Amino acid sequence: MTSQELRECLFGVYAANLTLCFPEAKDTFLCPFCLRTFNKEAVQGDKPKVILAHCVPDALRGRLQTLACAECDNRAGRDIDMHLINRLETSSFLRGESPDSRRVWFHSSRHRARADYRIIKGDGGKFEHEFKLDGKHSPPGQCEGIKEAMAGGEARKHRVRVTQRGQMAFSMRLSRVALLRAGYLLAFRQFGYSYILNPNLNRLREQFRRPREAIIPGRPVVQLSPDTFAENTICLTTAPKEALAFLAVLRCRTDGGSVSVHGVVLPGLGDGGDSVYEAIRADQEQHDAVSLTYKDLAPVMVQLDDPESVSRPYDIWEQYLPEQV
Ligand SMILES: [Zn+2]
Repeated sequence: MTSQELRECLFGVYAANLTLCFPEAKDTFLCPFCLRTFNKEAVQGDKPKVILAHCVPDALRGRLQTLACAECDNRAGRDIDMHLINRLETSSFLRGESPDSRRVWFHSSRHRARADYRIIKGDGGKFEHEFKLDGKHSPPGQCEGIKEAMAGGEARKHRVRVTQRGQMAFSMRLSRVALLRAGYLLAFRQFGYSYILNPNLNRLREQFRRPREAIIPGRPVVQLSPDTFAENTICLTTAPKEALAFLAVLRCRTDGGSVSVHGVVLPGLGDGGDSVYEAIRADQEQHDAVSLTYKDLAPVMVQLDDPESVSRPYDIWEQYLPEQV
């Protein structure tokens, strides 16, 4: 299937899902972020206005795709997702799991040279730091200076410093907004419009529009063990009681092959379901780390063009609620 065919296919599915929610809406795609509407032409041609959007970014090997308007998706890729990609790539690098080296400045005994830096995890979990000095791209005489200082023992008197510009820069907060956005897109793919247009989700969209502001409080993302859940699944959190919510399971894989699985808290469908974020923050203020227990929902993929899809997230939510009271 070509990209355009996939866009057209998803357009058909989402348009049908929107009609099920709002019978007057016909052949229309509503962007899950800006809520602007588009007709089918928007997914066609060389410069489509509605594009395929990866739930987990492509750079982190996300396979599942959905649709979003090009403006919203491109902006998020640039302003938000980069922070998640840089964070996961950097932690993979620092754990010695990445085969890639990084361009750095190597500072030692008053000299400064360009180098390729790699961390290697050796036997027994010991880390080795490998530097390859690059005389060609270093200021004249600097590499020689470092080598001499090392050979003569002079370098041992000074601390070695490594600096790097750009690549390692990320904001932890924005990387969490990126995970929230990926979780939101997964819920859009799994549950469709009846879920994401519930008022409990308004604050999340506000957060994506203004990613640098702390609109969603707390840290509503937990690290999960890689083997616990199937990819792209949505679970339910079952404790603490104030934090009942959906939990989107996202699997990220870096270039170096490090896999991490993140659980992203998404509001439930009861009144004021988005107060879950305040509950999590209160819990984090007391215990530092939030501890959630969760329950798998088995395969939850809803056929979005099936008339039952509209009530499905609500059915799941209600079925599950009595267990809690
Ligand atoms: Zn949009």
